[in-house]
Amino acid sequence: MTTTQTNSVKPISPRAPAKLRTTLGLAVAGLIVPLASVLAFRTMTYQSPDVKSDIALASAPAINVESAARHLGEAVRIRTVSHENAADNDSKQWDALHVWLKKTYPAAHNAMNLEVVADRTLVYCWKGTDSRLAPIILMAHQDVVPITPGTETEWKHAPFSGEVADGAVWGRGSIDDKGSLIAIFEAIETLISGGFTPKRTIYLVSGHDEEVGGQGARAAAAYLKRNNVLAEFVLDEGMQIISDHPITKAPVALIGIAEKGFATLEITAKTAGGHTSMPPKENAVVNLGNAVEAIYNDPYPLDYAGPTADMLRAIAPHAGLATKMAIANDWLFAPLLVSEIAATPAGAAMIHTTIAPTMLEGSPKENVLPAKAKAWINYRIAPGDTSESIMKKSQRAVGTLPVTLRWNRTPDEPSSVSSTKSRAWQILSLLAADISRAPVAPALFIGGSDSRYLQDVAKDTYRFQAITSSLNELDMIHGTNEHLSLDNLKQITTFYARLIATAAN
Ligand SMILES: [Zn+2]
Repeated sequence: MTTTQTNSVKPISPRAPAKLRTTLGLAVAGLIVPLASVLAFRTMTYQSPDVKSDIALASAPAINVESAARHLGEAVRIRTVSHENAADNDSKQWDALHVWLKKTYPAAHNAMNLEVVADRTLVYCWKGTDSRLAPIILMAHQDVVPITPGTETEWKHAPFSGEVADGAVWGRGSIDDKGSLIAIFEAIETLISGGFTPKRTIYLVSGHDEEVGGQGARAAAAYLKRNNVLAEFVLDEGMQIISDHPITKAPVALIGIAEKGFATLEITAKTAGGHTSMPPKENAVVNLGNAVEAIYNDPYPLDYAGPTADMLRAIAPHAGLATKMAIANDWLFAPLLVSEIAATPAGAAMIHTTIAPTMLEGSPKENVLPAKAKAWINYRIAPGDTSESIMKKSQRAVGTLPVTLRWNRTPDEPSSVSSTKSRAWQILSLLAADISRAPVAPALFIGGSDSRYLQDVAKDTYRFQAITSSLNELDMIHGTNEHLSLDNLKQITTFYARLIATAAN
C-alpha cells in the first residue's frame, strides 16, 4: 500500500475549486488590485462569532483545594480498572468507590436521590425547585484504564498511590475521569454548605464502564428516557483548555460540540484451502490484501467544514496575520487551510472520516493455504458520514473482488452537532473564557465519551473538562505519570460550582 491518507489533500468541496478557478481568472484579467483590497478589507474587519450575552455568571465560592486533593488521592487509590475482558475486573472496587463517595460527600448524598443502573452506574438527581425548567446533566465516569505493563517503574509516583506531591495529585484517573467526578462532588458539597438550592433539576450520571463500551451510560439514557427527561444540556469530559494551541501558539479553550463515530469493518476472503506445494492461482490472502488496499486508497476527502471550520473561525482574530487572512477569506483559501490542518495526523482526523486497517488473520500454518482470510479496518466517522455511507463506499471500492464486508458489531454513528447559540453554550463559553482568560472555540472531539449515548435525552451535548494542558501533557491521559495539578483541581472545581450556580439558578 503506497498512499497515505493524510498526504492526499483533495479539494474540499465541489464549489471551492470552481471559486478558486474563477478567482484566478479574474486576477489574470487584471483585477488583482480589487481582489487584494477585498482580502485586506475582510481580514481587517473580521470578527469571530464571540458570545455577546447578558448572562450574569455566579461568582466563585471558596474552594478548599487541600481537602479536594486529599479526596482525589483517595479516589485514585480505589482501583476501578476496566479491562477489555470484564471477567478481569474487580467489582468490589466499584462497590468501595460508592461507599467512599457516600461517606466523603454526606451533604450531596443527603440532597440527591440515587438510582443505580446496569449494576454499577450511578444516576443522581438533585431536584430543582421549579419543575417546569429543563434539567441539566453532568457526567463523569468511575472507571480507569489499566497501566501499560512494563511502564510501572516509569511513574514518578506509583500509579495507584494517589500521592499529593510536587503540586499535583498523582495516579491513574487523576484526570480521566476521577478528576471531574471529584470536582463535581466537591462543588456540590461546597454549594450546599453555602445554602444553595437549585431551581433547575441537576442529574449527575457516572458511568462504570466508559473505557470499555459504555453499557452503563446506555442504561442511564434508557432510565432517563423512561422518566421523560429532556435535558437542556449534557456536559461530559472531552476537550480542555489547550495552553499551546497550534494555530495561535497560545491558550484556547476548546469545547467539543460533536464527536466522531466508531465502527470496525470486517473483510472476509474465502478460497479452497489445501497444501502450499500445489497452490491454485486464486489465494484468499491476496484477494484480502487487494480489498484492503482498494478501500484504503479511496480515502475520505479532507473537508473544511463543520466544527473544525467553526473552531478556526472562532480563533482567527487571535492568530497570526497570514492565518487570519486565510480564515477571513476562507471562500478563497479553504484548500490552503485544509493542507495546513492535515499536516499532522491529529489535524487530519479533525476534518474527515479516517480509515485504519488494524488486524489480520490468515492460515494457521506456514504450509497450509488459507480457506479463509480476514482483515479489520477501524473507522472514525466524521459528522456528515454514516456507517451506511461507509459501507456503500467500501463495497464500491472492492468492486468485484471475491470478499464479503460486514460490521464486526453495531457501529457508533457520529454524534449530532450541538448549538453554539444556546443558553447552555453561552454559559459554558463565558465561564471557560472567564477562568482561562483565553478565547473559546467549538471543536470536534476525535475521541469518544459516554455522553454520546445521552444525546437523545438532551437538546445539546458538550464535551469539556475545565483544566489547562499543553498538547504534550495530554499524552499522560491513558499514558504514564497521569497527574492533576492543584491549580487545575481548583480551576475545575470552581468551574463546576459556578456552572451549577449559574445554569441551575
Ligand atoms: Zn475518560
